[in-house]
Amino acid sequence: MAGSAHSSSVLIIGGGLVAHAIAWRLARAGSEVTLLADGCAAASAASAGMLAPSFEAAHDRAAPNLKASLDDSLQQWDEFARGLEADSGMAIDYRRNGIVGLGETAAIGVRDPISVPAGVIASSAWLVPEEGQVDPRRALEALRRATAAQGVKTIVGHATRLREQSGRVIGVETDDGSSVRSDRVVLAAGMGSNRLLTDGPPLVPVRGRAFLVRCSQSPFVHVVRSGTVYFCPKADGTLYVGATEEGGDSFLSGLRLLVATVRRKAMP
Ligand SMILES: Cc1cc2nc3c(=O)[nH]c(=O)nc-3n(C[C@H](O)[C@H](O)[C@H](O)COP(=O)(O)OP(=O)(O)OC[C@H]3O[C@@H](n4cnc5c(N)ncnc54)[C@H](O)[C@@H]3O)c2cc1C
Repeated sequence: MAGSAHSSSVLIIGGGLVAHAIAWRLARAGSEVTLLADGCAAASAASAGMLAPSFEAAHDRAAPNLKASLDDSLQQWDEFARGLEADSGMAIDYRRNGIVGLGETAAIGVRDPISVPAGVIASSAWLVPEEGQVDPRRALEALRRATAAQGVKTIVGHATRLREQSGRVIGVETDDGSSVRSDRVVLAAGMGSNRLLTDGPPLVPVRGRAFLVRCSQSPFVHVVRSGTVYFCPKADGTLYVGATEEGGDSFLSGLRLLVATVRRKAMP
């Protein structure tokens, strides 16, 4: 598209779950939508996919009113997942079968004590029955299919600058000298949004590390998480294991715990 100019009724910048979800819903509601995405790896493709308001709201950097907004978002997932699976023709491994919190997570005030899952060392375990998970890699692929089916046009390109006129955004410029004109621009570029907004709220990147283990039989039925480590059994037979944040002892001790647990489970 070098040097060319496009125009669109709604322009969405970004290529992850958020940009695709907005594009899909707007197109389904009748808008003419263009997605501008640079094709780079999205956090969405690396995510564990936990839908866990109780745990996220207990984070020490969480905003005080975060829980209400996350709960509201979780309530919308049933209908969102149903519609997406229907429109894309593929399953996204969405389940609300509960999340097990171990020992220290009792501090988040969850209810329903349960027995500690076999093979796990923890003083206690708790079930948050209404929370769950989705497979974000499947959800992203489903959204790509669903947006394509709804006629969303995708342009591959990296937005470098928002174009403004009289204080209003009227489009974007891209790194190959092209431009896309639109008076309705949605910025959903994850951490990349920071570079396009000079006066927006500061986004702080947090790196999480994780790995996928292929299991003949998953050792867990639910998502199981402590304060530092989480296990997410996926429908494709993989177990997603991760630690919530990089750095310090919490990550290393978390890794040791999860490796020991997987070994015990795999080789009792
Ligand atoms: C290891 C890990 C585990 C996680 N686990 C969970 C979890 O269990 N539950 C949960 O809720 N969240 C989790 N998250 C967070 C979650 O993945 C993100 O909040 C979510 O995926 C963000 O989606 P997004 O669409 O906003 O951004 P992204 O998925 O990052 O997508 C942004 C896209 O926009 C593109 N882009 C950026 N700048 C530009 C530009 N200028 N022009 C064009 N395109 C651009 C990028 O290349 C990228 O493709 C996890 C994240 C990580 C890294």
